[in-house]
Amino acid sequence: MSTSRKSYSELAAEAIEDKRLKRNLNMIQEKIGKNVFAFWENEENRKWRDRVKERRLRTLDHLDILLAQLASKVEDNGGKVYFAQTAEDATSYISELANKHDVKHVVKGKSMTTHEIGLDQALEGMGIEVLETDLGEYIVQLAGDTPSHIIAPCIHMNKEQIADLFHEKLEMERSDDPETLTLEARNVLRKKMLAADMGITGCNLACAETGQISLVSNEGNIRMATTVPKVHVAVMGMERLVPTLKDHCDTVQLLTKSAAVQDISTYLSFIGAPETLDNGDGPQEFHLVIVDNGRSKILGDEDFKEILCCIRCGACLNACPVYGRIGGHSYNANYPGPIGAVISPLLEGVNKHADLCKGETLCGACKDICPVNNDIPRMLLALRKNLANGSEYWNVKKQSRVEGYGWSIFGYVTTKPGVYRTLLKIGRVALKPFGKKGGYIERMFGPAAGWTKNRDLPPMAERTFKERWQSRTRKSN
Ligand code: SF4
Repeated sequence: MSTSRKSYSELAAEAIEDKRLKRNLNMIQEKIGKNVFAFWENEENRKWRDRVKERRLRTLDHLDILLAQLASKVEDNGGKVYFAQTAEDATSYISELANKHDVKHVVKGKSMTTHEIGLDQALEGMGIEVLETDLGEYIVQLAGDTPSHIIAPCIHMNKEQIADLFHEKLEMERSDDPETLTLEARNVLRKKMLAADMGITGCNLACAETGQISLVSNEGNIRMATTVPKVHVAVMGMERLVPTLKDHCDTVQLLTKSAAVQDISTYLSFIGAPETLDNGDGPQEFHLVIVDNGRSKILGDEDFKEILCCIRCGACLNACPVYGRIGGHSYNANYPGPIGAVISPLLEGVNKHADLCKGETLCGACKDICPVNNDIPRMLLALRKNLANGSEYWNVKKQSRVEGYGWSIFGYVTTKPGVYRTLLKIGRVALKPFGKKGGYIERMFGPAAGWTKNRDLPPMAERTFKERWQSRTRKSN
């Protein structure tokens, strides 16, 4: 959920000045991002990626049938399924469930979807204690902060900052030794997990064939949060679906590879049913909440449908030069980075997050690193087009009439060679007096001022390429 009243540009401008943040982000981009790129250099791995992408797209084409199949399988296995059209539907269902079971303590596994629907706030509003059990999520919760990365929620903090936080909030002796800090968190979390009445997790993928969901983790917290409390609720975005067990294994492995360059995560749970007489493991009740919250609308637009192939591995954040400079909080939305620049406007409002699609450089690194090869640059351009032209479907108002007129004039000038050449000649003379050293213009005014805010405008060439070419051809004749 968004937390700041400041705009993307303001938050990004502040973050750029934060050298410590840049060092922390650099670490994940160097350690993980570069190794994932190396993984895709192998042709077999690229074929694996193409295969998964093709199946993700096919799944989207049959989503209604597959979701019905999933629901029926989960129910056959003894679980309950709830389809939530909106975030409010999902939080109401889970709140009622908590009420029914007289829940006082909830432990959570990492889940971006629960942040998206504002579940923690809803439960806390009922007086329920909600505790994150993923270490990174626990740290940001303790700091009163929000995650800044999809899979590494506290990547914006270093061990010294975490040491200060634990010293202040847990009243432990100050130590920046990672093992000591982890042990302290483990002691707190373990006690809470044993006393919890309800466990809430996300869902990495759900399988229509088996009715099971998969959850990946490197800490073991998921196993406790899903089996110790008497009720387990898993919250999934409706697109996180695979048709068969084979697809499930294939996709989940690709997820751990691109998320953390792991062949498979330390813990991988295929679960989705309450305990039975034969199998004492598991909660007394299992509920799967399948959230739409705007996804059907995305599915209905061919320009953006592809984004639903996303498996939330976070790799695009580890490749993005913009994310690497400004971090996740600057996006001021639930989903940061390149994936966030597309999905946040579509889920929360294109006008509301209009700046995000303009802040990315379109360098294409996000597409190259993505395990489902999502063409994020194309979708960023499609968002810009919607903002420029307006869109009834997305309820987008034209962002700026002045900008619209500006582009119409640009279009006219660049398609009339005579007008273009004349204006170039005028510009060359008119801009000369503003040039300083080497002809560079350090400061422009009015709507052009932004251009020179962080860089100088180079002088116009004395002669255009065409003029030079013509004089060269004349000489050689
Ligand atoms: S868009 Fe691709 S790289 Fe980014 S989170 Fe989704 S699957 Fe991962």
